[in-house]
Amino acid sequence: MAVASIVSPRLMRIGGGAVAQVAEVLAAFGLSRPLVVTDPWMASSGTVERCLAPLRQAGIAAQVFSDTVPDPTDTVIEAGAAVLLAGDFDCLIGFGGGSPMDTAKAMAILAAAPPGTKMRSFKVPAQADRAKVPVICIPTTAGTGSEATRFTVITDTETDEKMLIAGLGALPLAALVDYELTFSVPPRTTADTGIDSLTHALEAFVSKRANPHADSLALSAMRLIGLNLRRVWADPADAAAREAMMLGAMQAGLAFSNSSVALVHGMSRPIGAHFHVPHGLSNAMLLPAVTRFGLNQALDRYAAAARAVGCADDDDADQVAGAKLLEELVALNRDLEVPTPRAYGIDAGTWDGLLATMASQALASGSPANNPRVPDAAEIMELYRQAYG
Ligand code: NAD
Repeated sequence: MAVASIVSPRLMRIGGGAVAQVAEVLAAFGLSRPLVVTDPWMASSGTVERCLAPLRQAGIAAQVFSDTVPDPTDTVIEAGAAVLLAGDFDCLIGFGGGSPMDTAKAMAILAAAPPGTKMRSFKVPAQADRAKVPVICIPTTAGTGSEATRFTVITDTETDEKMLIAGLGALPLAALVDYELTFSVPPRTTADTGIDSLTHALEAFVSKRANPHADSLALSAMRLIGLNLRRVWADPADAAAREAMMLGAMQAGLAFSNSSVALVHGMSRPIGAHFHVPHGLSNAMLLPAVTRFGLNQALDRYAAAARAVGCADDDDADQVAGAKLLEELVALNRDLEVPTPRAYGIDAGTWDGLLATMASQALASGSPANNPRVPDAAEIMELYRQAYG
């Protein structure tokens, strides 16, 4: 069997109230001069105080960089890296959803490179192993799992490409995974981020790069998400379901970080970059069609996923379980009110006009090559057409 390369943060504090331990976690690594990276809403709503207050109590007056944007761009990373280099900081704290966490990771990577280096020089297949300072992640969505992955996703503003950047430089030193931070997430984002997590776990599990360690995390994540995603959608205050989703998202992050994502993510990033569809939502738009495309190439895996998610019975034959998974993914999109690209308002002519570009960007990301059934550009274009609605 091939050797699996496994990475994860050195320390994770998981559970309600974990964010209050942020100063303790910094101290464990001898760190005391953080730059907190967050988004404008976290700053204006006062949510970032959940991180700043315990730091203050420990005598740390942290500076805040709150100019992050959804789907972080290379220009924001350059601005953030300049702030990092201008101050006397010994670590970064990424506080927020995937966008602020990815911004913090990319700032640390860019700041370690010679002046004038562009973010695009780190995109896969390059390795981004060096970081200027360690990054501590505190997720507020459940979620991207970025708090536990060796990835950051940054948009190149010159080409509108969402670049996958991978390496030890993007792996957080520590993560504080506190589901209590997710009660305020609005229903649409709760659904989108939850489907993102489900996609991570499913793709990690069916990937050509799957391995037993990542499998166990993916299966656990699929169980947790399968049982709880509709519950958090129906009742945002359901604490047990929020907690399960947060754990599931983190485990799904660990799973794909140590296996890979596959075709859904490869095709999803160009939709995000060109049409500014939230990441989880563009995954959801593609998930049924892409699963149907690969189903028979990894039927046993998809069937096991169906049993883990809870939509198939243990004694269902693989063919039956696989069919039930497809039905479930369609039903999930219906129940969580996921629009098709057409219903989202994307113009048919613009969509068609960009299909070849999106297919080539999807292939260039390397993710489709991990899919059980590897498509060519024409097949990817056909899948985009099917998903359009
Ligand atoms: P996000 O960080 O862009 O946040 C979406 C919105 O939700 C923002 O308006 C934000 O302010 C709000 N929000 C976040 N937490 C909230 C809370 N607790 N209460 C109320 N509102 C809250 O969204 P995301 O889905 O978490 O992250 C998406 C980004 O992560 C994309 O750029 C995607 O490419 C990337 N991503 C990275 C990885 C990785 O491994 N690095 C994996 C998957 C996705």
